[in-house]
Amino acid sequence: MLIPLFKKIINFFNSFPEIGPRQAIRLFFWILKQPEEKKKEFLENLKVLIETTRFCKFCFFPTTEEYCSICSNPKRLEEIIMVVARETDVLSMETAKIFKGRYFILGGLILPFSENKLIKERLKILEERLEKSNIKEVIIGLPYIREAEPTLRYLENLSKKYVKIKFTKLAKGIPAGGEIEFSDPETLKEALEKRY
Ligand SMILES: [Zn+2]
Repeated sequence: MLIPLFKKIINFFNSFPEIGPRQAIRLFFWILKQPEEKKKEFLENLKVLIETTRFCKFCFFPTTEEYCSICSNPKRLEEIIMVVARETDVLSMETAKIFKGRYFILGGLILPFSENKLIKERLKILEERLEKSNIKEVIIGLPYIREAEPTLRYLENLSKKYVKIKFTKLAKGIPAGGEIEFSDPETLKEALEKRY
């Protein structure tokens, strides 16, 4: 019943994070049922998104400019950077409206048995930054989950290499097993204030 084109689209949806095969099929039929106008608008927006979006040269948050709105804001401190795993962590932290520095997005966590190509590339860039720029504090904003431990160890090793830079961790205001992404602004505020 499903012709190859349909299967191709369903497989594409299935490759999305947290979307299983059944959800992918549901999403496929839902899209087909949408009004023509809505579908066209979505397609056009998607095209513009793909063609114009790139990653901020400093923090790697998606942007249409060279630098994102945070990194191009002169009020944000250059000396403090928060290393986070994902873009969504930046969004959560920004809703708390307390962090005055800039971010550095790793693009994920170092996973065993994985090539970790993107993260390794970013960590290399991070090290170059620590080497050259005037960064005075690196806040490790990783989630408190076991999967984050290899990345945490990597960053802790960096802290031993760059002793002049203060390395801090967000306090465990974030519930154990919790991710920045799912923490409320009050919790994040406390985690940042009590960093150690
Ligand atoms: Zn940026």
